[in-house]
Amino acid sequence: MDYYSNQISRLIEELSCLPGIGSKSAARLAFHLIHMSVEDVERLASTMVEARKNVRYCKSCCTLTDQELCPICSNNKRDHRTVMVVENTRDLAAYEKTGKYDGVYHVLHGAISPMLGIGPEDIKLKELIERLSGDVEEVIIATNSSLEGETTAMYISKLIKPAGIKVSRIASGVPVGGDLEYIDEVTLLRALEGRTQL
Ligand code: ZN
Repeated sequence: MDYYSNQISRLIEELSCLPGIGSKSAARLAFHLIHMSVEDVERLASTMVEARKNVRYCKSCCTLTDQELCPICSNNKRDHRTVMVVENTRDLAAYEKTGKYDGVYHVLHGAISPMLGIGPEDIKLKELIERLSGDVEEVIIATNSSLEGETTAMYISKLIKPAGIKVSRIASGVPVGGDLEYIDEVTLLRALEGRTQL
């Protein structure tokens, strides 16, 4: 077997394991990589390895970060008594882009879905409850308005309310089944401002 073709096939195979990359795209990327300078490929590869090795969950809010505490949690100017619960780091980024929310976040990394067999113990709920023993005054639930997002919101509200903490849910300005990250900033802000207490 030809030594070089074998390595190209392996590269294509590895690339096609990535989400959204079919075999045609994988081949295109593989040949692109092969035509890049060795230095550029080395920089790309080491960026990937470094990110994989160093990115972890923030000790407080569970978002992805390369520090022990993410920049939001370690910022003293943020209001640490208000915690917005989101499903993933991309949703956090969507709210951050509005520049109008000055509280902190909690990232669940998923939502409860009995259909997919995802239970409360499979998302970062335990970590949220642990945080609430501090001086948190309000928890804003900003999970998506999908079935899973609503199930998760109900579950969290039942869990937290007995602790005497104010629990609110963002308004339904966010369309049903809509992913937060695709919704424009005005709608996100309206949903936040119009939140209702649970
Ligand atoms: Zn954090």
